Amino acid sequence: MHDRREFYIDGAWVAPREGRDFEVIDPSTEEVCGMISLGGQADTDAAVAAARAAFDDWMLSDPRERLELVKRIGEVYEARKDDMARTISLEMGAPINLSRRSQAQSGLNHIRAFIEAFEKVEFIAPLGPHAPEDRIIKEGVGVCALITPWNWPMNQITLKTIPALLAGCTMILKPSEIAPLSAHLYAEILHEAGVPTGVFNLVHGDGPGVGTQLSGHRDVDMVSFTGSTRAGIAISKNAADTLKRVHLELGGKGANLIFADADDDAVARGARHCFNNSGQSCNAPTRMLVQRDVYDAAVETAREVAEATRVAAASTEGPHIGPVVSAAQFEKIQGLIQAGIDEGARLVAGGLGRPEGLNRGHFVRPTVFADVNNQMTIAREEIFGPVLSIIPFESEEEAIRIANDTPYGLTNYVQSQDDARRHRVARRLRSGMVEMNGKPRGRGAPFGGMKQSGNGREGGVWGIEDFLEVKAVSGWGAED
Ligand code: NAD
Repeated sequence: MHDRREFYIDGAWVAPREGRDFEVIDPSTEEVCGMISLGGQADTDAAVAAARAAFDDWMLSDPRERLELVKRIGEVYEARKDDMARTISLEMGAPINLSRRSQAQSGLNHIRAFIEAFEKVEFIAPLGPHAPEDRIIKEGVGVCALITPWNWPMNQITLKTIPALLAGCTMILKPSEIAPLSAHLYAEILHEAGVPTGVFNLVHGDGPGVGTQLSGHRDVDMVSFTGSTRAGIAISKNAADTLKRVHLELGGKGANLIFADADDDAVARGARHCFNNSGQSCNAPTRMLVQRDVYDAAVETAREVAEATRVAAASTEGPHIGPVVSAAQFEKIQGLIQAGIDEGARLVAGGLGRPEGLNRGHFVRPTVFADVNNQMTIAREEIFGPVLSIIPFESEEEAIRIANDTPYGLTNYVQSQDDARRHRVARRLRSGMVEMNGKPRGRGAPFGGMKQSGNGREGGVWGIEDFLEVKAVSGWGAED
């Protein structure tokens, strides 16, 4: 059992001032695997005060010094990557192979990508030849509250902490209370790498407690949040009184448009992508829109993929999906599968209950619904489980209309061999990202959404600039 009941404040591990014990549950076994403390106002205040005190020096530090620190973080992270993979796998149920290859690795990938992106950020630059004595200075926004979810813990935490460090911000991380152990390990990594006192602080807590205390705090200048649209709205409202900057990365209900001329692997690839991480990804392609001519064959392929997808405990080596994160998520997913059945969608694979042979753990059957229409609950709500909804369409126009008919706008996917069609469709989809023909976005591409999927962009230059203020200075003189 991992006892992690301390917070990292002002460069040291400290006992909570007003903490409450909170159990971390291994979703594969439903056993307690860790214990944290949920902080209170006094803990939040102490962390914010430490970050505030460290800000002036850190903001004025040489950006290249900050870059060197991030390089050291990368080295320590790499050395502890296996530990990180095991920790994430334990706390949120990602299969150990996925955890090594993607969950833990994503942290390292982001650190490396930000080191590259840093070179493109101009922290001080002339306005232009027409105003030779003007300078545009970019400096850290200030004290940042970073609030993260459980589904891709290190992905999310590095996407926020690393650019905040590079920008010259100080910060308080409040990771998800459901999967907090990896964040604890990450704080150890930052400490070992030599992050200056007060620049990075970690307080565990829940949404109504530390989360709300941070979003409403007078001494916090910015909240960067990844999580549900529900919490994003609550945070925005609570942050309004202090007019802090609010950066949101929220849910999604991605459409995968499969045209009749799609490549042979498009449907299987889309179904596997939907089931990956047990469907617990904000950018999962959960609505598969299939052109009528290839519809029956696509339903059959998706059924085969679902039935071939093994479900097993997170610690089991090899390709399979793991449990979903919690009893609450399991129940929510069961309710949505039931809604699909009740509203008349055709269940072609999976369904209610656990997969055969698994009597304990939050395991969900890989499920495929066909003949879904876009007004059904399963097409509108984010399920966050391994559940694929297949929707037929006749024309390109209809496919675009269905894809955009959602409150979300995070990632959409297009499968077609016709370049002109892909270009037309990509331009008309209302989402922050469009991935086509199975090609992943390149390193340093911005990640983020439109509409109720949020307003921020993480990764690359955009990810660093989100943590920067822009200052216009005149009368600087002609020399630097
Ligand atoms: P959640 O919103 O319940 O919790 C996320 C974090 O916010 C946790 O740390 C939680 O303690 C905190 N929180 C909850 N309510 C809060 C409040 N009122 N004030 C302040 N903090 C609060 O989300 P979750 O269940 O942990 O994660 C799943 C959600 O995250 C899904 O909707 C998913 O789509 C979304 N997500 C989005 C992205 C993205 O980049 N767009 C990435 C991953 C996950």
